[in-house]
Amino acid sequence: MSTCPRCDSKEAGKVSDSPVSGAWTIYACPVCFYTWRSSEDPKFTSSSLYNPDFKVRQADIPKAIHVPEIAQRK
Ligand SMILES: [Zn+2]
Repeated sequence: MSTCPRCDSKEAGKVSDSPVSGAWTIYACPVCFYTWRSSEDPKFTSSSLYNPDFKVRQADIPKAIHVPEIAQRK
């Protein structure tokens, strides 16, 4: 298990490894659904370096029930 950079859940886990062994690993968080690749910048993969403005509080996730509509094609 890994710590989710966005919501700090300890439940994140490995989803996939790169076809070329050791190039990268993909992780996903089952709490906030954030997904990241190990080779991304640490500001996207590290809980302590993730932009605080984009952090998600786990208590707020059940309240996020409204999904914005997709705009009509022009
Ligand atoms: Zn998360």
